[in-house]
Amino acid sequence: MSGKYFSIRVIGCQMNVYDGDKLRGELLARGWKETGDGDRADFLIFLTCSVRDKAEQKVLSELGKFRRKWERARRPNVALLGCMAARIGAEAAGKFPWIRVAAGPSHIGLAPDAMDDVIENGSRHIFTDKNTAAGLSCLPKTARNTHKAYITIANGCDQYCAYCIVPYVRGRFASRAPEDIMREARGLVRGGAVEITLLGQNVDAYGKDFAGDLAGYTFAALLSDVASIDGLMRLRFTTSHPSDFTDDILEAMGSNPNVCRWVNLPVQAGSDKVLREMNRGYTISEYISLVTRIRNSLPDVGLTSGLIVGFPGETEEEFEQSAALLEKLRFDLVHTAAYSKREGTPASRRADQVPGEERARRLVKVNGIQTEISRQINSALVGKVFQVLLDERAPKGKDLLQGRTASDKVVLVKAPPALTGTFQNARITGYGPWCLEGELL
Ligand code: SF4
Repeated sequence: MSGKYFSIRVIGCQMNVYDGDKLRGELLARGWKETGDGDRADFLIFLTCSVRDKAEQKVLSELGKFRRKWERARRPNVALLGCMAARIGAEAAGKFPWIRVAAGPSHIGLAPDAMDDVIENGSRHIFTDKNTAAGLSCLPKTARNTHKAYITIANGCDQYCAYCIVPYVRGRFASRAPEDIMREARGLVRGGAVEITLLGQNVDAYGKDFAGDLAGYTFAALLSDVASIDGLMRLRFTTSHPSDFTDDILEAMGSNPNVCRWVNLPVQAGSDKVLREMNRGYTISEYISLVTRIRNSLPDVGLTSGLIVGFPGETEEEFEQSAALLEKLRFDLVHTAAYSKREGTPASRRADQVPGEERARRLVKVNGIQTEISRQINSALVGKVFQVLLDERAPKGKDLLQGRTASDKVVLVKAPPALTGTFQNARITGYGPWCLEGELL
């Protein structure tokens, strides 16, 4: 093998997938080559997540395994990128000399130059908040699936939920300029994308930080503008925040048929007291009223949510309110998690932490409830026909492709790989809690 080789590991959210696609595009444009063989790579890139302690510990344990190799062969060079680098990049680099580049989300644009410099001059670049921020300005040229693309529309978050590390590692909320997003979206559609997902920690707050000429340009306006691009068949967005999800977003969804009928609206707790302590900014009755408005205006909507159990001070009764809320609202799917203590957040300083075994018990209980609800909802879809965008080979099952309905249901169908990236009608023939089985018509 000649030339410079890199290998990328993406951990965490879709925003990391998007950054990974951009980084890949930039490195390939500079003459680097990608390899899936970590042993042969000159640089191993870890795009990391700090939301949960477990994910960080896993990366640190993997990084620890390179000691022998490094002492023997001064390989591999590691680039620690993303949220972990913003949080503990300098500390990790002090411990592991094979980390040659560390750059958090706001410095990731500095990584390609730094990696070149490490290979050519044996240097080391540990970027911290003191360095000038630089995002990746290139287009994500080499997404895993060219028919399906992601665009980050805003970075950071100003919500400061009491449990969340994101505002500390991704910084203040900053909307990207609409013309940049439009240029990127048009480029992706020209390159073959038929589905685009707009990404942000809180997409509904898009534009709230605009001043001057752009003041008043909202997420609903952006949604309509992107939806109007010729050739774009599906437009999605995630994640929504109940406090910022305004009715004009529903109107934009209703008047643009290519905006998918899917809303991901994390509730996080079923009790007003816990929501207040989480600093979520809404009450349960406000949340229920929003869900009712969404379901009334988009009857075929897929509604997914998020729930944290065992937040500090959550009593058994408050936990039961969360469980009851799942039964009441019957979401299609819920991303559940046991509260994970993140150093530096207000919730981590509380003395009334719920013990680990209790958090685990509560998680098992809500998972059981939601699994049954999802199974029941999916069972009612058998015999119905959906338009499915076939995305990729299913992780399990021979000759199966995996696709999604507009409402974000995963559907597995028997189909040749050549149909990847195409829209097909499928009749639902079977179901489980997480996905549907179908046959092509
Ligand atoms: S809205 Fe809350 S949970 Fe979501 S990223 Fe912002 S601070 Fe974190």
